Amino acid sequence: MSNHNPQDALRRLQGLQRAGIQYLMGREFCRPEELQKPSTLVSPQGRIAGERARTTVPMSSLPKLPEVPQLRPVLPTEPTIPPKIELKRIQSSALPGDPAEVLALLDREVKGCTACDVLVKNRTQTVFGSGNPRARLVFMGEAPGADEDRIGVPFVGRAGQLLERILDACGLKRDDVYILNALKCRPPNNRTPEPTEVEACRGFFEEQLNVIQPEFICCLGLVAATALLQNKTSLSAMRGRLHPWRSSKVVVTYHPAYLLRNPAAKKMTWEDLQFLMREMGFEIPNSSVE
Ligand code: URA
Repeated sequence: MSNHNPQDALRRLQGLQRAGIQYLMGREFCRPEELQKPSTLVSPQGRIAGERARTTVPMSSLPKLPEVPQLRPVLPTEPTIPPKIELKRIQSSALPGDPAEVLALLDREVKGCTACDVLVKNRTQTVFGSGNPRARLVFMGEAPGADEDRIGVPFVGRAGQLLERILDACGLKRDDVYILNALKCRPPNNRTPEPTEVEACRGFFEEQLNVIQPEFICCLGLVAATALLQNKTSLSAMRGRLHPWRSSKVVVTYHPAYLLRNPAAKKMTWEDLQFLMREMGFEIPNSSVE
């Protein structure tokens, strides 16, 4: 039976339910891309992101499952979470289960991080990341600013509002994607993160990406791109092509905060986003970012 046919997968789910299996939140079941990812990214044209034109079966049109008792974990519903855990214990490969749960464990560890004295003293709270833990596309920024530090969510200030307009122009919403930063703490006065701070946070952002396993990562700005790709290339040289990072493809574009200061660069950013959308198999709306 092929994993790539939603109808087959649905039949398999029905068979499992008839067999009385109730715990189906495990990654192995939920992860097959054609089952879960299209349900998270549907283009305004109704086309499922990542599926090419020949695909015609949106998740919403699949037959309804027969009524079964509510799916419940057979594991204890309230897993005991140690207050501080070792990073290596939450490698996605080692932990089955819902990526949202694994990210929640990682967030807990981030909250307790005291690696960078200056940042710890300066922060109101850590800013972990937000969005769809199974997203095909992750946006990676630099570090929280004042608004993010206050609210605890990435990209909620002016740069975040522009990012939302960019998403909107692509036919996407925040919840379709996952948004994170290289640094989880706000640098004082929004200064550029120190290389040592990026290294201190590397385990966290790399692990987030390992858990989400996005097909695409869009780095916003040079700091994010350099943190992820670990090269010394300029942003303009990194634009316009796909860079491999583990099993993901990385696209690099300007940071929204830069666009606020240099609106002329919006045109190039829109070209980068159109390139990304094409690679993802989206129809590209004929709009621009204002
Ligand atoms: N800039 C970033 O890089 N990240 C944020 O979360 C906000 C502004």
